Amino acid sequence: MRPLAIAHGGAAAPAGFRDGTERAARAAFDLLLAGGSALDAAVLGATLLEDDPRFNAGTGSNLRFDGRTIEMDASLMDSEGTFGAVIGLKRAKNPILVARDVTRTPHLMLSGEGAVLFARRMGHADYDPLTARAVEKHRRAIEKWKALREGAPATGEGDPHPGWLGCDPRLYWNFPEEFRAGDTIGVVARDSLGRFAVTNSTGGTALMLHGRVGDSPIFGAGLYAGPAGAVAATGEGEEIVRRLLCYEVYRRIEGGAPAEEACRAELERFPDRIAVGLIAADRNGAWGGSHREMPFSVVDAST
Ligand code: ASP
Repeated sequence: MRPLAIAHGGAAAPAGFRDGTERAARAAFDLLLAGGSALDAAVLGATLLEDDPRFNAGTGSNLRFDGRTIEMDASLMDSEGTFGAVIGLKRAKNPILVARDVTRTPHLMLSGEGAVLFARRMGHADYDPLTARAVEKHRRAIEKWKALREGAPATGEGDPHPGWLGCDPRLYWNFPEEFRAGDTIGVVARDSLGRFAVTNSTGGTALMLHGRVGDSPIFGAGLYAGPAGAVAATGEGEEIVRRLLCYEVYRRIEGGAPAEEACRAELERFPDRIAVGLIAADRNGAWGGSHREMPFSVVDAST
């Protein structure tokens, strides 16, 4: 089978960041051409995107509501049955590599403090992924949240979850400090043996409580891979989980729908106000798309 790689930089991220997704997809594709597995390629692509500070994954991850905390989720899955995820990981450079290390254990997922201690044990050094861009993004998210509560229209990038509009975060504040009023990546690869793999990595959405988990590390919600293809989702995690989005896309592909048709049909299940995006590969090709702007790149023998 002809190798192929597709990478996205998050629903509602500027399309101008496409040079980053292009670089990641191309590196993944080159590794596939050199005989690397779909999983190795998807992990490599995710690592490059985590290291690009423009994306909300690894370096550049979003801050939580308190404007101080960063908790990252990352996951991987392939058509051979491999699955690994880290949830709420703090202070690590490449969460996807920690997720990969989880696959060496009998577990599927590690979270919170256990994930951090595991990362250190596996040799992932203490690292602060905070960037000035993330601080600015958080400031804008707080401003937007205040404006939306006063009736301003939603705009796209950085919009807080609509659930926060009629809800006072002070009631649920679970950070150690007092209340203060603060885009994900994914890669899908298909190798020459016809194996599929998918990786996800994220700092979450805008304005999250401590401990909030979205779709990105959740099997079937934020990612799915099987013998017929692989799928990664981005956008409003809570809504993606409710719809078990990636598994539903995969089932359509498995039933014979091309990746594009399968993704479009599932995107239609989301109202326009919810940011959501998908990338997917099947045995014949790949497709990416979103309700919002979303940088993504496909690399195969024809590009
Ligand atoms: N889906 C991610 C989450 O909800 C965020 C994103 O894709 O931008 O955590």
